[in-house]
Parts: sequence; structure tokens; C-alpha cells
Amino acid sequence: MKVLVLGAGQLARMMALAGAPLNIAISAFDVNSDAIVHPLTQQQLGSGLANAIAEADVITAEFEHIPLPILEQCQQSGKFLPGSDAIQAGGDRRLEKALLARCGVASASYQVINNQADFNQAISSLGLPLVFKSALAGYDGKGQWRLKDPAQTSAVWQQIADFLAADSKQAIVAEQFISFNRELSLVGVRAASGEVRVYPLTENHHVNGVLSVSLARPVNMQLQQQAEQMFAAIANGLNYVGVLAIEFFEVDGNLLVNEIAPRVHNSGHWTQQGADVCQFENHLRAVCGLPLGNTELLRPTLMVNILGEDTLPQAILSLAGLHIHWYGKEKRPGRKMGHINLSANSLAELKAHFAKLIDLLPVTAFPELEQMLGQISD
Ligand code: AMP
Repeated sequence: MKVLVLGAGQLARMMALAGAPLNIAISAFDVNSDAIVHPLTQQQLGSGLANAIAEADVITAEFEHIPLPILEQCQQSGKFLPGSDAIQAGGDRRLEKALLARCGVASASYQVINNQADFNQAISSLGLPLVFKSALAGYDGKGQWRLKDPAQTSAVWQQIADFLAADSKQAIVAEQFISFNRELSLVGVRAASGEVRVYPLTENHHVNGVLSVSLARPVNMQLQQQAEQMFAAIANGLNYVGVLAIEFFEVDGNLLVNEIAPRVHNSGHWTQQGADVCQFENHLRAVCGLPLGNTELLRPTLMVNILGEDTLPQAILSLAGLHIHWYGKEKRPGRKMGHINLSANSLAELKAHFAKLIDLLPVTAFPELEQMLGQISD
């Protein structure tokens, strides 16, 4: 099978690695250069998008911020999964919020803002504190403003007004600020037949809005069931095929959806070592019409993102149950360069191994890991 992936980053790379044993060959469309590239070497392949679409058996995507004409071109081929609607819903917070409401899935109350009257209306109807998010091109907490103190209202409006004036396609989604207990995510896969399989809920820790650590451990069944129902509602609502990730806020035992990602997801990287069939393989199985693989947790596993570093102390490789996945990218401050997966036979053993890993990692590049370790409850 030949699969064309829209996007040529680390997610396409890891799909290529997972696809190789199944004889699934991946080529990747680099949206920045408009080139078709090999997802591992980044070497240019073939002769342009139209030919790559013609040659592919299946087209899929590794990110949601793809220009509409390209989505439409892929959709017209009849080979695009999960398809243009799902990718657009993940890339535009207005569509995403409307989708959640349509599927009857709880999320923070919101209002769309296009001008100052909308802004004032959002404050009076939703109340403070509020989180303002750019409707398009927002990720990892970028394009966000917070308003807690009424004295800051005009200063925040000025920043939002400048932002809206710079791009006529943009809008803002104002959301009630949620005082959550934890951030969790669910990664799952839906086949064309409607079969759904989900991995266990993952606990996520962010630093400055960017995912730092994800932990997969035996879960609270009540929360897992809530998450699975929400997953099924959204995936069925979109007639979705492939891996879909849902990020949640947990508030006193209840889940609210923060956002969805219509693709394989950073909080599912632990599945490479903690599950039988990882998210990358399951995504390929779903879009290629192959049977879905087992999504059960094999052993407690955590993932640590490597941000802005291209080397780490070699000694970490001697820790039991540790795997490094580098992305082969050029070093830039804060850039996602790779991740570490750490697995153990029990949660207690995982915590002990995590403590050893933390001792070996440079604290400046891996801040707050000690606190995260302290927050892992038994
Ligand atoms: P997002 O890009 O929407 O995932 O937001 C980045 C981070 O901002 C999230 O991981 C949360 O920690 C925080 N955040 C986003 N929306 C809200 C909200 N409505 N209330 C409180 N915190 C939020």
C-alpha cells in the first residue's frame, strides 16, 4: 500500500517507521515547501502533489493547519481519510466548538469574537476569568490571551484587536476559564466499519502550554467510560476513520473536552512501548482498511518530550525500559526534537525509574519533572 501523508514532520516519520513492517510505504507532503518528501530522509520524491495523489492508495494527514485548496484537492480524489471535514474541525476552533455541541459533548462555554461588541458581550455573558484563543492556527497555547482582572480589559482588547486587524480570516473563541484538577487525553481509532478501539486515558503535564510528560497507567474506569462515550460521539459524528485524539479537563470527576486532534497525537507516543499496537500503526491499519490492533495498556509507560535539545547524556540508555525516539530535526529553542518513553512492570517501579531518569537529565532543558513525579498518585 502507498500512503500519502499531508505534513512531513515527526508524526509522518513515525507513521513511516510503523508502516514499514506492514509493507506500507509513506510519502509526505511538506506544506511549507510544497514538495513531496521521504518522511525519514526529507529527500524530495516524485513530481508534485497531483502525481503523488494519483499514485497513492490512501491520503491522510499528520496536522490540521493545511490550506483549504489542498484539502479540497485531496478530498476530490476519494482517497482522503479521515477527510477534509474532520481536518478542518481540528484546525478551526469555531468548527470544533460547533462539532462538540452537535455531538452533545461537554466543553467550556464559549463565544465567537469578531469585533469589540462581541468581546464585551462575551465578558458580560460568560464572566471572568476568560481564555481567548485564536480560531485558526492555534496550537501549544500559542495565540492565546487570558483576562482575569477587569482592569486589564481594554489592554487585552487592544491586543486582540491588533491580532484580528492583521488577518481578516481570523476570529477569536472566548472560553470560560476552567479550574481543572488534571489534563487528560484519550487517543483512539475508528475503522470504516464503525469499530472503535481506544487506548487508556493518559495524564498530561504541560510547561508553558507545551506538553512535557504523558503518563499511561491503569485508569479510573468511571473516567475512562466517560471519555470513551465522548470519543464515540465525536468519531461517529464525523464518520471518522483513523486515529483521533481528544484532550480533556478533569473537574471533580467530570470531563470537559478542551480540544480534538484529528490525527495521531503527542500524548499517544507512549503507545510505541506501552501498547501492543501503537497509535501510528493503528492509524495506518484504519485508513488502509486493515483490522485494528490491540489498544490495551501492556505496562505503565510515560513519555517525556525532548524540547530544544539534540543530544542527551548517553547514560539514560542504560535505564531499564527506556527508549529514545529522535526526530532528526535541526535544533531550535523549544522545538520538539524527540521523546523518551519509559516503561516498567508496575507504577511503583515506573516512578523509581523516572526518578533515576530525572537525575540524569539536565534540569534546565527538562524543568518541573520533579514536581510531576511528586504528583503521580499511587
Ligand atoms: P490549548 O491550545 O487549547 O490546548 O490550550 C493550551 C493550554 O492552556 C491547555 O493545555 C490548558 O492548560 C490551558 N487552557 C486552555 N483552555 C483553557 C480553559 N478554558 N481554562 C483553563 N485553562 C485552559
